[in-house]
Amino acid sequence: MEEPVTFIDLWDEQAEWVNTLAHDKGWYDPPKTDGESILLMHNELSEAVEAIRLPEPPRSTKIPDFLLEEEELADVVIRIMDYSHEKGLRVGAAIKAKHLYNVGRPHRHGGKRL
Ligand SMILES: [Mg+2]
Repeated sequence: MEEPVTFIDLWDEQAEWVNTLAHDKGWYDPPKTDGESILLMHNELSEAVEAIRLPEPPRSTKIPDFLLEEEELADVVIRIMDYSHEKGLRVGAAIKAKHLYNVGRPHRHGGKRL
């Protein structure tokens, strides 16, 4: 019997594909610093904020079946996948581990407001 495909397997496979594409498209020529890479992740979050500030949620022009907010959040994840694969970070496994940790935390993690 074959072992089931897990979230971590899918994350790692997609992250490898994203990273290979980034190399192929020239995004590592020259390589970015770690700080620059994380700033670019943050920039995608800022773009998501701009997308939700408008009175009517705009659609993406690049992937028209989706909202711009969805596209920008996808960009965040794509950048995280690229960075984590490049650095050999186990972000997919960390997502799973952190979620399981959160399952056991108290309501609002002990009374935090936000
Ligand atoms: Mg973007």
